[in-house]
Amino acid sequence: MTKQTVRDVDVNGKTCLVRVDFNVPVEPGTGIISDDSRIRAALPTIHHLQSNGARIVLCSHFGRPKGQVVEELRMSAIRQRATDWFGVEVIDAGLPGDKTNPADTIDSLKPGEIAMLENLRFHPGEEANSPGFADALASLADIYINDAFGAAHRAHASTVGVAEYLPAVAGYLMERELKMLTRALESEERPGVAVIGGAKVSDKIQVLANLTKRVDTVLIGGGMVAAFLKAQGYPSGGVEISDEDVHTAGQLLFSSEAKIMTPADVVVAREFDEDATPSVVDVTEVPGDCLVLDIGPVTRADYAEEIIAAKKIIWNGPMGVVEWESFAEGTFAVARAVAAVPDAFKLVGGGSTVAVIEELGLRSEITHVSTGGGASLEFLEGKVLPGVAALDDA
Ligand code: ADP
Ligand code: MG
Repeated sequence: MTKQTVRDVDVNGKTCLVRVDFNVPVEPGTGIISDDSRIRAALPTIHHLQSNGARIVLCSHFGRPKGQVVEELRMSAIRQRATDWFGVEVIDAGLPGDKTNPADTIDSLKPGEIAMLENLRFHPGEEANSPGFADALASLADIYINDAFGAAHRAHASTVGVAEYLPAVAGYLMERELKMLTRALESEERPGVAVIGGAKVSDKIQVLANLTKRVDTVLIGGGMVAAFLKAQGYPSGGVEISDEDVHTAGQLLFSSEAKIMTPADVVVAREFDEDATPSVVDVTEVPGDCLVLDIGPVTRADYAEEIIAAKKIIWNGPMGVVEWESFAEGTFAVARAVAAVPDAFKLVGGGSTVAVIEELGLRSEITHVSTGGGASLEFLEGKVLPGVAALDDA
């Protein structure tokens, strides 16, 4: 670990400002929290701080209020859920600039007690990374701890600005994400296999470009399959593909150090519709009026063979339109293959991809399920995340 962590600082009697990612999904309409795993993910850091006598001030963004107060985006339900999990009341501390001064609440905290700021993005200074707001946040605490890996790709006041004013260290969740993602990119465990899918080529070009330098084999699935077929001179169906995407796919195919595998067969349909009739065709025979919506059974077996032999697996992006039963099998087959590999390092990232792992109950078979969608993708692209760069070096 090249950055300091919460274990490197003495927190006893100190007030710690902990940036967490409590941007939880909620049910539309009711606002009921549908998945509180992001709240639970903060528990290791909270326990460490409580057992070492720190006073804790949590802060997070929630939704996109764009610099103003939006009643439905208050932290109250999140604060209640955190209270349930952490076993002590999480006290509302407001936000710098509010009528109620957060410092008054925070000053009265005893060691082990927890307060939480209001939604950081209610303040325009948060996303603007304004020095004034960063300084106001910093003035509330003695130590800054970033445990919000999912927000580390954003240069905001609570992820970057505040670190200039206080000792700045990683929390447990942040540390684990960085360790696992670094291992995914840098370890010599071989063969290394990357499985990359998802909706669009443009979303995944950077990650493909980086991973082809770091693994032995890349398996291609998802919406980008059509561009890869076209680049090889195969028919690609009725979807419009930009010349740029075909060019990118071609460059990756013909100039990568890694072996790039594309499907041998695919599942196609005439409409982009849940109830469209699926048919399996060889990649040489994709009809001109059809869309490629999943990888076919031969490809599933080919990909599974590569996966099973791997010592390191990185998976991001579904192989097909996994939300629809007729086009989900390719993704499920990859998920089961990844889960079945006995002695390999396995990292899975991406919102839809992680949802599949959860849905199939395979989380325990995966070495690391990355919590940060955009952040883990940017890390795998080889970018330095601003929220990580801002932390103190070890
Ligand atoms: P993740 O969230 O795991 O990072 P992405 O956001 O890149 O993955 O892509 C997920 C989406 O890609 C899913 O909604 C899925 O339906 C879509 N998708 C996968 N394959 C196809 C395809 N062949 N055509 C259209 N959409 C696809
Ligand atoms: Mg996604």
